[in-house]
Amino acid sequence: LNRLYGPLTAMANVQVDIMTALVSFERVLEVLDLEPTVTDAPDATDLRDAVARHGASVTLDGVTFRYPRAGEVGLASLEAVAVPTQEPASDTLHDLTFTVPPGAVVALVGRSGAGKTTTGHLVTRMYDPTSGSVAIAGQDLRGVTLASLRATVGVVSQEAHLFHDTVAANLRYARPGATDAEIEQAMRRARIWDLVSRLPQGADTVVGDRGYRLSGGERQRLAIARLLLKAPDVVILDEATAHLDSESEAAVQAALNEALAGRTSLVIAHRLSTVRDADLVVVLDDGRVAEQGTHSELLAAGGLYAELYRTQFATGQDVAGSPGPR
Ligand code: ADP
Ligand code: MG
Repeated sequence: LNRLYGPLTAMANVQVDIMTALVSFERVLEVLDLEPTVTDAPDATDLRDAVARHGASVTLDGVTFRYPRAGEVGLASLEAVAVPTQEPASDTLHDLTFTVPPGAVVALVGRSGAGKTTTGHLVTRMYDPTSGSVAIAGQDLRGVTLASLRATVGVVSQEAHLFHDTVAANLRYARPGATDAEIEQAMRRARIWDLVSRLPQGADTVVGDRGYRLSGGERQRLAIARLLLKAPDVVILDEATAHLDSESEAAVQAALNEALAGRTSLVIAHRLSTVRDADLVVVLDDGRVAEQGTHSELLAAGGLYAELYRTQFATGQDVAGSPGPR
């Protein structure tokens, strides 16, 4: 996208609008693992060395963040051009501090707009914090190479995007050298092989909006297969169950268990089962950490989590209840 970005900024606003309508840049970034807003420091180190030595902890320390305004360099400026009404007037995250120990699952919960997705953006370094730091394996992300960060962190988001290409090609974005056997194995583990093997051309079937249409749950399982192929040490997951039928939801859940096993995971949790099983639950309220603890500790504390539990988790509704794209 660095190559795309130059020409794009030169384009007329109307074209940026059209491009934005066609495909969300964040989705492209997520799939291609590219990053236009930040560049390597001259003395940047390889994050994989630190992960090998210390394990892949994720630490946010006093993180405050305000989205860039229109005209500022970066992805956000493109969004601001496309959506001129969105002028951030204040900080989105305030003094966020929490740690995901190596191999642990931390569930991030809170009302819609609380800052969950934004927190995920900072861990993938789509943006840098305004103050405070985000570190993996004790390394401030500003001091590591982007290539090694991309290799370390994998993302599965709410709207799993597929390119207009074959199933196999969609998966190979994650690992260009993957063999057909490895691709099939990833799909088996992601509980999507049964379906793909029955498509007209199997893994060579063209999918996407203009190809064979897959359901939301099927797309999400393909995104999980992509993650399994990539096998990152850290996983950021926006699990969103909205619009999944119960059969699809069970299959997605099984695939997720497979994908998260043994990896450091930050899960934007919409499912009670995820929150209950998480090693730590971090409750965000208006960009601040309102509470953190285990499910049972937080229930006993009778605070915001207990309220969210009563009103949303316990009724089986989507906790974020987020109708919008973010
Ligand atoms: P959640 O995922 O918890 O629903 P988000 O992190 O998506 O919350 O959003 C937190 C706040 O940041 C919201 O007020 C939202 O409008 C704002 N926001 C999200 N993305 C952007 C952006 N690209 N530019 C400006 N503000 C944004
Ligand atoms: Mg969100």
